[in-house]
Amino acid sequence: MSSLNATLRECHRLRVHVRELLAEIDRGPRVLKGRQDDLEAARAAHAAHYEHIKQLKLKQRDDEGTLKQTETRLAKLEAQLVDLAVAKERAAKESEIAQAQATKGALEDAILATIMELEEKTNAIPTVEKAWADAQAEFAEYQKEAAERLERMQHDLAESRTTLDAREAELPAPAKRTYDTVVKAKGPDALTAAKARVCQACRATMAETQFFNLRGGEFRTCAACGRILYAVE
Ligand SMILES: [Zn+2]
Repeated sequence: MSSLNATLRECHRLRVHVRELLAEIDRGPRVLKGRQDDLEAARAAHAAHYEHIKQLKLKQRDDEGTLKQTETRLAKLEAQLVDLAVAKERAAKESEIAQAQATKGALEDAILATIMELEEKTNAIPTVEKAWADAQAEFAEYQKEAAERLERMQHDLAESRTTLDAREAELPAPAKRTYDTVVKAKGPDALTAAKARVCQACRATMAETQFFNLRGGEFRTCAACGRILYAVE
């Protein structure tokens, strides 16, 4: 295989590589945004857990206050009942007492349920703290890796561009003019391999002589798709 084939193949590889690097560098801010959203969600979940505990404690305090009032009222009603002799008045008072007792029972149930939920939420605190610590550590790790990765890619990009310039400078002048035109129009897809006479981009088959000349170092483009060809085994 001629050195022209090798040069074009290397130019193709480098141009594709540069395009991939640029695309990946470009994706960086979007990936960062996704990671920031994850961290924010973890922060919110952590805060929500403590807020929930706070609300449960408030509810418990309120319910306990109401229970105390209900018990006071119940004692008063029961004391009043003793003094009532008229059946109709007694019935009315008994109904009031039954209602107060139902309220008392419901409050006791609610307080018990709140206490149980509080206990469950309090027991979960170590797990919640660990999840939040893990989320922060993961984000810090991501930031560190992303910065290192970006630096590697930028270094690779600069190096690839320098090598590409050097390889392109090896192209003979008439070929370079066509090369520049096609590359300007098609980017990294301006180049393609030809294998066993077949253009690997558009699958067109070239004549035996043309392939022979291509392998021998002739600069040519695909008659079907216009791409710059390099022969490969
Ligand atoms: Zn083609």
